[in-house]
Amino acid sequence: MDFDRRNGLWIKSHGSEKFYYGVDLVELFLDLLSLKPLEIIAAVYSDIQWVKANVANHPETGVSGLIVETEMEEFECVQCGNCCLNLSDAYQTSVPDSDVKRWENENRTDILEWVDTFVGLNDIWISPKTGKSVSRCPWLRKLPKKEKHACRIHDTKPEHCRNFPKSKRHALENGCKGYPAN
Ligand code: SF4
Ligand code: SF4
Repeated sequence: MDFDRRNGLWIKSHGSEKFYYGVDLVELFLDLLSLKPLEIIAAVYSDIQWVKANVANHPETGVSGLIVETEMEEFECVQCGNCCLNLSDAYQTSVPDSDVKRWENENRTDILEWVDTFVGLNDIWISPKTGKSVSRCPWLRKLPKKEKHACRIHDTKPEHCRNFPKSKRHALENGCKGYPAN
């Protein structure tokens, strides 16, 4: 967000020029897009999200909208471990209070000792021995004699781990092997 606030674009339109910060550009783009026909909105959505999007009418009300095929049903985790090994924002990040509360309720002191809460942020995973960020998730385990990995805290892993991948694009962009490329 800090990057978005400091950077932007000068846009010249109808003879006047205005600087739009990154956050305002998103609003501007959405406003401009909302004035376009639904077919164009569907095409833009499809290009951005790498999924099929088509215009359709609601079967009962007849209101026009978009039908988006998320294709998430094609996703199946093959336990390659890529997300846990290579995405540092999987294990060098902050987690919401809800994760911390759940670990407290479950009495998971083994997990909580890897969390450093400071000025409202719950940073993970911080080594209780060194007080520093880890370079590999401490809960990742390679299965013996298999090219597979498992999470040792799978049942209560952080929300962001449970939500990976958020979309087909998210998976394909991050080398997730559980999502077939078209
Ligand atoms: S907590 Fe589990 S799912 Fe999350 S990065 Fe570590 S091993 Fe992967
Ligand atoms: S990268 Fe995708 S397939 Fe591999 S472990 Fe992560 S979620 Fe599963």
